[in-house]
Amino acid sequence: QVAPRTDETATGVAESEARITALLAAQKAGWATDVTPSHATRDDRLARLDRMVEAWHERFITAISEDFGNRPAVVTTLTDIVPVRAAIRHARRQLRAWMRPRRVSLAWTGKPASAQILRQPLGVVGIVGPWNYPLNLVLSPLIGALAAGNRAMLKPSELTPAFSQALALAVAETFAEDEVAVVTGGPDVATAFTAAPFDHLVFTGSTAVGRKVVEAAAKNLTPVTLELGGKSPVILDPSVDFDKAVPRLVWGKLLNSGQTCVAPDYALVPLGRVADFLSAVKAEVERQYPGLPANADYTSIISARHFARLTQLVEEARDRGAEVVELGGAHDAEGRVFAPVAVIGAPEDTGVMAEEIFGPILAVVAYDTLDEAIAYINRRDRPLALYWFGEDKAAETRVLTGTIAGGVTINDTLLHLAQDDLPFGGVGASGYGAYHGEAGFLTFSKEKPVLKQSAISGVKFLYPPYGRVASFM
Ligand code: NAD
Repeated sequence: QVAPRTDETATGVAESEARITALLAAQKAGWATDVTPSHATRDDRLARLDRMVEAWHERFITAISEDFGNRPAVVTTLTDIVPVRAAIRHARRQLRAWMRPRRVSLAWTGKPASAQILRQPLGVVGIVGPWNYPLNLVLSPLIGALAAGNRAMLKPSELTPAFSQALALAVAETFAEDEVAVVTGGPDVATAFTAAPFDHLVFTGSTAVGRKVVEAAAKNLTPVTLELGGKSPVILDPSVDFDKAVPRLVWGKLLNSGQTCVAPDYALVPLGRVADFLSAVKAEVERQYPGLPANADYTSIISARHFARLTQLVEEARDRGAEVVELGGAHDAEGRVFAPVAVIGAPEDTGVMAEEIFGPILAVVAYDTLDEAIAYINRRDRPLALYWFGEDKAAETRVLTGTIAGGVTINDTLLHLAQDDLPFGGVGASGYGAYHGEAGFLTFSKEKPVLKQSAISGVKFLYPPYGRVASFM
């Protein structure tokens, strides 16, 4: 075992580069000894992964809390541990069905040959993760990769060093290095990692870094699944009941303090109902998170730099004429507790309206007609998620058919992610490709078409001399 490194000194980076090269060579050699692993081999890898998460879950929770400053154990359990273990169980249950070759019927011109599609692993998959759900967003893609029969190398975020270290140790204890391995380090190591000739890369992170990853991967013709972020809108229809909608919106917005790729970013609220909406949100924030900043259920902002960025977003919006409404409690800069804030009517070119917020700031935009709300969404980058609240079926259909988003939850937030059979992925600037459940299995598989000729060939007319065939054409 080569000790994982976290330092970003020139020597550290050079050593990490050498380690990446050595690991990838070992994994490719391992892959070549068993190109299409059996059901038993794959199931065993998934079972070991499950046992690893079970055995390490307390240590993972402690490490993640340490990395965040405060992140409640319940949040890590519900958003990192439980979904990953559920996804492993789901994959193990479905594995035989996913692996089965698909018979394909042939056109008469192909008969009497037979055909099928074989689902085979791609080889070695590289997985680069972000810090916000550090376990989930590295291990969920791994489940699909292992189920599909691949080997994998993981590069968790440098902003969760305690978790990354724990993951490296847990993986080293659970898997041979040529099966699954962890590489730790910051952007320089990540750059070397994504430049390595993997058979597939999954990148979860920001759009800006995603562009760099795609460029690096293109040099190797490595296909990439890009799981990026963006501004996910919530439309509150005039038919909405705030008593039902607001608690669900506030939950989705403030889970992990808004540091969620699919968090509601801005709310489109019917003109004339903004004041009612804000007082409902304020009351709900006080119900869910009383006494901020001293509330143990509220997650800290990951770093002082991120805290300063959120402060700056609010200040800029205020300076540019937006209304800023504190939704409950006060900030604690030292503990990086950023109390929830709503920003209403910020100009479109302010940071809060132009960038992904990724924190507990809710931008509010008033709209007059549904067409106007749809047009507002459609003239922006395609969002990772879209939420609609209301009772009006016709309006619901218009929003569903009139907009494009990575995924949608109607009358709630975030929950489409929690279903293993719903593919998860972005579109346009929020990314491409998808995983979760069978979608993940297919992302990490090559669907190989195979035609088997019969003893009697039905296509002898393809052979020259063509004199007789030509006379039929
Ligand atoms: P980030 O892009 O800063 O970092 C993500 C990973 O990329 C880290 O592991 C980092 O080390 C690595 N990296 C940094 N520079 C690199 C480079 N030049 N080449 C290759 N890799 C490099 O993102 P983040 O701040 O960790 O995460 C927040 C972002 O991720 C938000 O935009 C959020 O919406 C998005 N996100 C998306 C999803 C999703 O599933 N679609 C999930 C969570 C977060």
